[in-house]
Amino acid sequence: MPNGYKVVDRKIVIDSDRAEIVRYIYEQYSLGVYVPTIIKALTGRGVYRNGKPFALNTVYQILKNEKYLGIYRNKDEVFKNIYPQIVPTEIFDKVRRKVEKNKFGKRSTQTVYLLRHKLKCGYCGHPISAESGTSSNGEVIHYYKCIGRKKYRNGCEKTALRKEFLENFVLENILRELSKPDMMNTIVNGLMHLQEMQNKENPILNTMLAEKRQTQNALNNLLSAIEQGIFSNTTNKRLHELESKLSELERNIVIEQSKTAVTLPESSIRKFYEQALLKEPQMLINLLIKEIVLYNDKIIVYFNSPLQTSPDENSQGFSFYDETAFMPYIIQNKPNPAMRAIRFKMNV
Ligand SMILES: [Zn+2]
Repeated sequence: MPNGYKVVDRKIVIDSDRAEIVRYIYEQYSLGVYVPTIIKALTGRGVYRNGKPFALNTVYQILKNEKYLGIYRNKDEVFKNIYPQIVPTEIFDKVRRKVEKNKFGKRSTQTVYLLRHKLKCGYCGHPISAESGTSSNGEVIHYYKCIGRKKYRNGCEKTALRKEFLENFVLENILRELSKPDMMNTIVNGLMHLQEMQNKENPILNTMLAEKRQTQNALNNLLSAIEQGIFSNTTNKRLHELESKLSELERNIVIEQSKTAVTLPESSIRKFYEQALLKEPQMLINLLIKEIVLYNDKIIVYFNSPLQTSPDENSQGFSFYDETAFMPYIIQNKPNPAMRAIRFKMNV
């Protein structure tokens, strides 16, 4: 019997306690909660399956099981009166769409390293790579390890971290912090400020604008001289020089302005973060995280910013990998209020 059902008098009926767990799993997942986090929450409440915490695969099987919708398929035949419906259709459909998009759901046997290519060692600066090993009881364990320490044996002090621990830790902290309205406001305000700074401080653009003003003046002077009858081969040549210089400057100014004058409205910046938070973990990490620097006692999360730097990156509306604007958010293994404040790193 799938979780949530039992047989009474040779009929399949709802087992209300277990059905509550199924609904909980669906609701949480539809809200964007990561499956390991759901399992942790269940375990925390003393909810087990056959005496053990729910396995990832079990939860994914539950999330894909049409019986909870009241549907039972046998080859091409559909029966709607065998299993009573447990999960509301709206939530089931939402979850089905998410599971289909989610690699975890599709290929649950293949290990997905959520943080691959995002991790850097805070001590030696080498990337942190993903790997697996087998423990003495035959269990496969996945780790994130410093390449400097492991491959180059540079004596780096960074210790290996269990994959599940680190991924949950990072996701939980990001979800929790970004769901706080004042944290979101701090980020949005900071990015608006950063955007203003970027646009103000563009020396190339400023130089070109000054040069344009000078060229325009010189051209005006020359034109009034010509009006007064001073016209020769020299003035004619000078006129063409100034005209072509002016049009070239104007072209370059447009290019430079399109690079820097990206004035995203506050609502777009906010939307970028809010929508990223609703995505599957892999997508969420790709969208939001630029880099995570690991130490033994803390991690620093560098967020991507929706501010774009180049017009070429315009295809998706935002630059997800803006190198000039990002924010580190420091998360401590041991909470330390002084270290938990968000800081802006202006790296323009
Ligand atoms: Zn290292």
